Amino acid sequence: MKSIVSSFDVDHRTLREGLYLRSTYKIDDTLAVYSWDLRFCAPMDRKPLCAGAVHTIEHLMAYWLRLDEKIGKSIVSFCPMGCQTGFYLSTMNDVKAEDIKAALGRVYAKVFPIHGTEDIVGLNEIQCGNPALYAIEETNEAMRKYIGILFSKEEAEAAHIKL
Ligand SMILES: [Zn+2]
Repeated sequence: MKSIVSSFDVDHRTLREGLYLRSTYKIDDTLAVYSWDLRFCAPMDRKPLCAGAVHTIEHLMAYWLRLDEKIGKSIVSFCPMGCQTGFYLSTMNDVKAEDIKAALGRVYAKVFPIHGTEDIVGLNEIQCGNPALYAIEETNEAMRKYIGILFSKEEAEAAHIKL
């Protein structure tokens, strides 16, 4: 039976790291919202991100992707998966996987590696529910690994990304 939650229709035993279009939601049969699966960890490897890295990446990506020149204005939300193996990015308009990949590369080149809490936007008691939850090294490592999965060595060099 097809489930009403589209991610439940994916066989997570064979899902690898990567960037996938997971589903398209139609609002009022006209407005399309696209849900992208930014899978940082292969579920079958049983090595999810630590909670601190999930929270840190959520803060950084929710902020910096919205400032991206190409896809920023098309972003609806950037949310962590509860299973800690990746994130959901929701977009509107005509954003392609290549556009998202390029934007992730731009944010990575600009923001990473981070060095301390001063680099994590919104990590304070006014803007966040749990500002004590963060991870610097694990975040840098998770992002470096994920960008390394999306970009070949040549692509990374051309985009001025240091891996
Ligand atoms: Zn927070």
